[in-house]
Formats: sequence, structure tokens, C-alpha cells
Amino acid sequence: MATVSVPRVSVDSEFVMTIAGKRVSTNETLAVFNPATRQVVANVPVASQVLLDEAVAAARAAFNEWSTNALTDRQQAVAAMGDRLAEHAEDFMALLTIEQGKPKAMAEWEVLGSIAWFREIATQSLASETVQETRERLVISRHTPLGVVGAIVPWNFPILLAVWKIAPALVTGNTIVVKPSPFTPLCDLKLVELVQDLLPAGVLSAVSGGDDLGRWITAHRDIDKIAFTGSTETGKHVMASAAGTLKRLTLELGGNDPAIVLDDVDPQTVAPKLFWAAFQNNAQFCNAAKRIYVHDNVYDQVRDAMVAYARTVTVGDGASPETQLGPIQNEPQYRKVLEYFADCHANGHVFALGGMVDRDAVGWFVPVTLVDDPPEDSRLVAEEPFGPILPLLRWHDEADVIARANATPWGLGASVWGRDLERVGRIGRQLEAGTVWLNEIHEYSPHQVFAGHKQSGIGAENSLYGLVEYTNHQTITLNKARDAVA
Ligand code: NAD
Repeated sequence: MATVSVPRVSVDSEFVMTIAGKRVSTNETLAVFNPATRQVVANVPVASQVLLDEAVAAARAAFNEWSTNALTDRQQAVAAMGDRLAEHAEDFMALLTIEQGKPKAMAEWEVLGSIAWFREIATQSLASETVQETRERLVISRHTPLGVVGAIVPWNFPILLAVWKIAPALVTGNTIVVKPSPFTPLCDLKLVELVQDLLPAGVLSAVSGGDDLGRWITAHRDIDKIAFTGSTETGKHVMASAAGTLKRLTLELGGNDPAIVLDDVDPQTVAPKLFWAAFQNNAQFCNAAKRIYVHDNVYDQVRDAMVAYARTVTVGDGASPETQLGPIQNEPQYRKVLEYFADCHANGHVFALGGMVDRDAVGWFVPVTLVDDPPEDSRLVAEEPFGPILPLLRWHDEADVIARANATPWGLGASVWGRDLERVGRIGRQLEAGTVWLNEIHEYSPHQVFAGHKQSGIGAENSLYGLVEYTNHQTITLNKARDAVA
């Protein structure tokens, strides 16, 4: 076991990479900002290609022993990682708010979710299957680990989406090198450092750096699989780069999730639910409802109720207890979101709420903004803004709204809201999305498969389907006849 003293989980502590069980810093560093203040709060190491090679070599060296350990040992180690995170949960929540911007309730959701994922994925396993057993032959189908996994993580849920990769990779017997987003490396570096004494050295490493580091990982000759969560655009680069060595891939990518609201809803009841469907995590959520189609008969009432509810929501520094929505997480994303405001103004779209950005705000804040029935081909409707500016759209014909909901290259999630459950179900089943929520949203489980349709991804996370993604299929056949070879 690696011997590492327990690190402090605090923004004013030192942030290091973990390579081969050792703490590693570099002369070159990368600044990490608090998005609520635009101030640098910490600096993290920048991995060179040589350091990445060391992490991968250590993962390769650790693979034989780790993969041949008893399954229960690996499961226990992963469950213990959940317990370790639980011991430091409050500190991680505070650190997450500082680096990501999310308010306490969201930080709690993410950290408690990460603990639950470690513990629950630790209960999963893939049994061997006897396909045929006769007096003459035995055929068994089983799963073997792939080898070394490279995990590439985005900035919106930095801990949870790392855990979604670390836990199944380790349970199935792989070793793993994690690369956090350059915008949110603090929690991931601490987490990996904090659990080293639970694992043999090299089984779990973390390297930090910029997007180049991601490119080196996807092209690395000795990495067997990439588990990637991020934008569809980057996902395409990952796939192209991974093709050079035919790496296995799980891609969890972007989305433009539709929500369809029927005319039998109570506008006052549904409005807060739709609001949070769209704006949770300040709309920096792959599964945020990004286009809300409201039936013409209730459109005005739902719009007005959403506007009224939105006016009650407090936007601010996530560290303040009253804050419900934080800032945009980073400057490039802030600039991207501003483009959608500019585009709406330039094209004369109507703002039901918001629309004016205070560029002198202390942090990267934009106001909650609702756009009243913009054209279907407007940028706001057709693209993924990934920020708190939301189009509300009218519909009256069921077949037409289903066609509009599906008219997108993405297919991550969708939701339908209405009292008539038969109709809700009928519409839901026609939506092209990996998860379709009916009268609820953002309910996830370690035992519920999560996978994007179309350009929202390849492969799956969570459930036994997610576990399979970290394995090879292997068939073993035995000819039992005594005279088979002699
Ligand atoms: P991003 O694609 O910019 O970056 C994701 C990660 O990829 C980062 O760690 C980044 O450093 C790395 N990276 C960048 N360029 C790379 C390259 N060429 N090769 C390899 N790695 C590279 O995404 P983001 O802005 O961090 O996250 C937001 C996006 O992620 C949104 O599109 C959102 O919908 C998506 N997302 C999807 C899910 C899902 O599960 N489907 C979950 C969360 C976020």
C-alpha cells in the first residue's frame, strides 16, 4: 500500500498530482479561479508528457496484481473510498463551491451522490455465464478487465463524474489515470490523494494540466480505454485520436434536452419544477431541460408563473447561504453564454425575463433569462448554451411537438409533464433520448443505465451495462472428450 499522510481538504492547502502513489508537483502551475470573484484561489501542477508516461507506466505495473485480486477486495476498496469521502464531505462541499461556483445545496447533492456511487458501484459485479454445459462441452462467457483507463472529466460536476469512472473501472479490475478539467481540478486532485492508502500504488493516479494533456491521454499507446465526459465537439476529437490505437471508448457528451408540457398541468405547480429542470447547477448541466415546449392552451400561464418564480430565486456567490444559483463556472463559458444574449438581442427575440448582463459584476454572473417563443431555428433553440438562458416554445399538435423535440443531433435526456399519464407515456416513448423522465427530472441511480442517443454519446455509464464498458468479453470453451487431444 502507498504511504501517504492524510491531506487537508482546504483551498489553502497544497494541491498535488498523484503518480505511482506519490505526491507530485511541478514548477509550472495552472491558476484556478473562484468564478464568483474571478480571483485566483489556488495553483495546480501541470503534467508534462513524461509525467503522464510515469502515471500510465505505474498503472500498467499495478494492473496484474490489482486485476487478479479477489473481486471482494476491490469492492471493499471502492466502498472504503466512499467512506473516506464521507469523512471529509463538508470540506469537499466547501472546496467544490469555491472552485465550481455551485451553491451549498448543489455541492451537497454532488458530494453525497459521489459517496453513494462509490458504495453502490462497490456492490456490483459481472458474473460469468455458462452458455452451454453438456457431457461433451463447456462454454463459458466472462468479462476480463481492459487494462489502463484514462478518465477525462468536465467542470460542471467535477467530483461526481470522476467517481462515475473511477468506481466501475476499479471494481472490474482496471487501473486508472484521472484528468480533471483545467477549470476544476481541486476536488479531484484531493480525492485521489486522499484515498491512496486504500489502494496499491499506481492503481489510481491523477494528473492535472490543460487540454493538451487530454490529447496526450487519448493518443497514449499504453492506455486501453478512454472514459470521457464533455462536449460533443471534444468527444469527436477524442474518438478520432483514440482510433490510432483502437482504444475502447465511453463518451458522455452534450445534450439539448426537450421538456414537453401538456395542457392539463397546473401552471403554478409545474412552474417551479420546470424552472429547476432548466436552471439547476445554473443550467450548466448536460441534462438540463434546454427547450421547454408548452402547450398553447397554458403557455401564457406557465410562462408567467415561471417568470414569477424566477424572480424569487437568489443568484450569487455559492458560499452565501441564501444563494440558489451561482455564477458561470469559467470565463470562456461566460463569453459563450453572452453570445446567446447578443444573438437574441440582434434577432429581436422577446425576453420574458432578464436579458441584460451586468459585465461589471464581480464574478462571471449572468441573469436568469427566459426567452418568449423564439424561432425553432434560432441559435438559442438549436444549440446548447450551457448557461441560464432558456427558450420557452409554444406547441399545439402532438405529432408536431414530438418531431420538433427529436429534430436535433443530440439525444441525451427528455422530459414530459402532464396529468394524463397515458398521453405522457405515449409521448415519452417516442422521444429519442437516453433517459426520458415523466413528471420528474434528474433522478439518477448507480443501478440505472445512463447513455446518450445520437451525438450525445457512445456507450453507457452506471448499472451493469456501465460496468461491462470496462471489460472485454471472453468466451472459454472446453471439449471434455478424453480423446480430444490424445
Ligand atoms: P469540454 O469538452 O470542453 O472538456 C471536457 C474535458 O475534456 C476537460 O477535461 C478538457 O480538458 C478535456 N479536453 C479538451 N479538449 C480535449 C481534447 N482535444 N482531447 C482530450 N481531452 C480534451 O467540456 P466542458 O466544457 O468541460 O463540459 C461541458 C460539456 O460537457 C457540455 O457539452 C455538457 O453537455 C457536457 N457534459 C455531458 C455530460 C454527460 O454525461 N453526457 C455530463 C456533463 C457534461
